[in-house]
Amino acid sequence: MTVCMSCGRDARDKATKFPCPSCGAVLVRCADCKARGNEYKCISCGNLGP
Ligand SMILES: [Zn+2]
Ligand SMILES: [Zn+2]
Repeated sequence: MTVCMSCGRDARDKATKFPCPSCGAVLVRCADCKARGNEYKCISCGNLGP
């Protein structure tokens, strides 16, 4: 399954995938967290971002 890395919930079809601006690892966020601008932390390099 696809888990949102901001809230940890199953994001499924609402998921947005984007590359980490720092290391390029693929990050996943759900539509809710994207809309709220919730903070994320890259699993690969630890980069924090909105
Ligand atoms: Zn989320
Ligand atoms: Zn990264």
